[in-house]
Amino acid sequence: MKIFPSFAVLLVWVCVLTSTASLARVVDGNAIMDQPMRENLCALTFDDGPSPYTPQLLDVLAEYGIPATFFLLGRNALQYPDIVRRMLAEGHEVGNHTYTHPRLNRLGRLRQEQELQRTDAILRDLGAQPVLIRPPYGLYNATTKGIAERMGASLILWSLDSNDWRRLPDSYADLRSTRGTVYAPGTLRGIFLFHDTHETTVEDVPRIVRDLRLGGCQRFVTVSDYLEGLLDPEPCLLMPRNTADTLVPQQASRQSPNPDGGEHDLP
Ligand SMILES: [Zn+2]
Repeated sequence: MKIFPSFAVLLVWVCVLTSTASLARVVDGNAIMDQPMRENLCALTFDDGPSPYTPQLLDVLAEYGIPATFFLLGRNALQYPDIVRRMLAEGHEVGNHTYTHPRLNRLGRLRQEQELQRTDAILRDLGAQPVLIRPPYGLYNATTKGIAERMGASLILWSLDSNDWRRLPDSYADLRSTRGTVYAPGTLRGIFLFHDTHETTVEDVPRIVRDLRLGGCQRFVTVSDYLEGLLDPEPCLLMPRNTADTLVPQQASRQSPNPDGGEHDLP
């Protein structure tokens, strides 16, 4: 029994050392659902843009007064710089989704650095200060994590996938979490994955907002504000996913080889 307090102290120190040694962490979509919150926060995230449909999305979000998080492709940010500036001016968060949407875990260090650092530089030139990286398809490895650490960024996945690139769901309140859970009415919260490269998704935002509110979402926030809203962030608990090359993305293991879409958008 005497060993237990020492072990607990050691654990605390491991947490402290880990959290101070690097700013990076892998935010697991499942782990954050176990973290207590004072209210049901919901973060809408849109990947793969900006696209020609994004201005319409920004109009609707402005109508609702909802801030969102956009994980941008560097090449699209270059093509639509004014849309990125508008996102920032209107209070949305902007994150890094690589330059060309590759499977990062299949690339060597140099190519991964190019994908992430080139995009980071483009976003910073447009006025963003990105602290979040969403690896395409949720795929990454130890190299990705090391690069993120040096960039002072966290890898962020998602809790619930709309699969909007395939087909819009009958009800967004009934989305299954990456763990397979459907949340009881009134308890829905989390980080939701959408794509603003699809006109159908953008046109469906009123239904998305209505369904999620009916499901329990009390307030829509950016991803960074969502993480701030966790009452017990416990950094160590947010890094349970190993970064092995063989990592299987949360959704891919269940049904989709293409969990965050986008592949169909590749040239
Ligand atoms: Zn994507």
